[in-house]
Amino acid sequence: MNRPLLSLATLTLSATIALFVISCQDNDPTPSDTTADAVTVAVDPTLFIAAGLAEPITKVTRTLSNGTSAECYKIVTNNTPTDHTMGPWCPTTITDDASKGGIWFEGGKLYDVDGAFIQNLATFYNDAFWKLYNADGTIKVTTTKAACEAAARPNVDPAYNNYCVECQPSYSAGIKKTYYIPVKPVKLSSPASIGGMGAVVGIAFNGVNFDPPAPTSAILGAHTLAPMDDAGGHVNTAAGYHYHAATGKSKKIAQADGHAAMIGYAMDGYGMYELLDTSGKEPADLDANRGHYDATRGYHYHVAAPGANRFITGFRGAQGSFSVSL
Ligand SMILES: [Zn+2]
Ligand SMILES: [Zn+2]
Repeated sequence: MNRPLLSLATLTLSATIALFVISCQDNDPTPSDTTADAVTVAVDPTLFIAAGLAEPITKVTRTLSNGTSAECYKIVTNNTPTDHTMGPWCPTTITDDASKGGIWFEGGKLYDVDGAFIQNLATFYNDAFWKLYNADGTIKVTTTKAACEAAARPNVDPAYNNYCVECQPSYSAGIKKTYYIPVKPVKLSSPASIGGMGAVVGIAFNGVNFDPPAPTSAILGAHTLAPMDDAGGHVNTAAGYHYHAATGKSKKIAQADGHAAMIGYAMDGYGMYELLDTSGKEPADLDANRGHYDATRGYHYHVAAPGANRFITGFRGAQGSFSVSL
């Protein structure tokens, strides 16, 4: 009976010491008291784009996903990227070129959603029911908040079968996202899976979240398409704009040693990096979470290819929490 209590107390004490060390040494890599890693890098709040923040980043004590308490950064964003534009998502006619539409993933690959892609869907999916366009070549696109909600809900309104679904950021104007991310990552005894609806994977430096995989089978099952824009993001009215793919459009931080650039933080505080290094190579030693360790960055993740409909595969560390307010 005493054992769990003792180890919890020990953990909390270690965490307190670790956090004290961080606050004294700021963002320098410091030896970790909570993992076996020689180097654990603390979250650097100065990397976030100030214009994306709804209020200054503060430190608060929060309970992490493993039940322990830790100092976290409270990051409240206005969910509006300032480093790239949002949209377009759906082209409006079957003659539109790629500049008029976004992207879609299938089988691990990324496709431009241009007019020709829409016109070719029945062939692409080998299913004659697909027809998102009218006889005059115009594409059926949701154009109101009510339409996008009816078309994007899990049980798609049959009236919106064969629609290209897009919601506008203006439908959730004033949205704020609050992230609590541990200042210093805390390794779990075994990795945690990526959450489903309502959970997020991490945060880009512009304040927009990296989302779990899009429910493509539900989307396609209703013969709808919900393209991402060229930055890998789209909108739903519950979560606003969010990413399903890292396409290199949001702020990234180049690494002096040619390592892949950093694009944000996962909810456990470990850094998220692009897939490819400056010579175009993928890391060869990723673990089941899509992470690995080096002495410069400590443990960190490399996101999957943009066509994969996922960023990382598991959390190595205890996650903070996330909420949306509209
Ligand atoms: Zn989505
Ligand atoms: Zn790496």
